[in-house]
Amino acid sequence: MDRASPYSAYAAAGAHEPFYGHRVPAYRCPACDGGVLLLIRDTLHFGQTAESRALNEAVGPEIGVGQWRFSCLFKCCDSGCAEVVACFGTMSWARDPRLPRDDAAPVAWMPGMGPAPDIHEQQRRAQAELAHRFQPLVFLPPVEGRVEEATAREVRVAADFTWMDVGNVRYSFKLGRQADSIRVLYQAWSDGGCRDGTGMSEKLIGERIESSAERFRIDRVFEDHPILHRVLRSCGKGQWALFLAPAAPESASDADAA
Ligand SMILES: [Zn+2]
Repeated sequence: MDRASPYSAYAAAGAHEPFYGHRVPAYRCPACDGGVLLLIRDTLHFGQTAESRALNEAVGPEIGVGQWRFSCLFKCCDSGCAEVVACFGTMSWARDPRLPRDDAAPVAWMPGMGPAPDIHEQQRRAQAELAHRFQPLVFLPPVEGRVEEATAREVRVAADFTWMDVGNVRYSFKLGRQADSIRVLYQAWSDGGCRDGTGMSEKLIGERIESSAERFRIDRVFEDHPILHRVLRSCGKGQWALFLAPAAPESASDADAA
């Protein structure tokens, strides 16, 4: 199979959420399922484009405008993967999203309205509210290419279900309700012809593993567990199943929304 062309990533330019120096969204790792990319901060650099510099020289510098490029590296948070991903894009200034919304639009000043507004003070304040906004254009390897490249994910499980390898990601489970739930769901997936989404209600899971919980809840058992909403997903009200095959694009975006 042809590997996704790096240029296919250009087609998706703008599809990525921007990040700010203080806040980086959970970009998905292109190399594994479930990994999130962490910014390696000292690799983040930006520089002004030649065209923008020429314009500055002709018209004068004005903070908040101009064209800048950035590059940086990310590393997958999953220690089993730890892939390094390069990213580049455009940098601009935008009002810091941490600031409260500025709903009071400045009123046009007219003679008779009191002292004239201090333009310099207004400009100074507006500049102080600006933050670097980084818009990724390309991730290498492309984050979008992850789905196509994952042709077959090998699945291995421990005899006691205390771990499960999905592709190159290992999920570990505590003995007891976690390992037992995975055992029941893996059995359902296997009995259903290894079809993703073949699961059962959490009520039935609770009965099968003889949970004493009054109302057995999978999302409680797997609270903050990396498998939740990735490989272990809800597929209807109170219904849960394993998704072990390569994710289809639609279901991948479902996982993002979850
Ligand atoms: Zn990864």
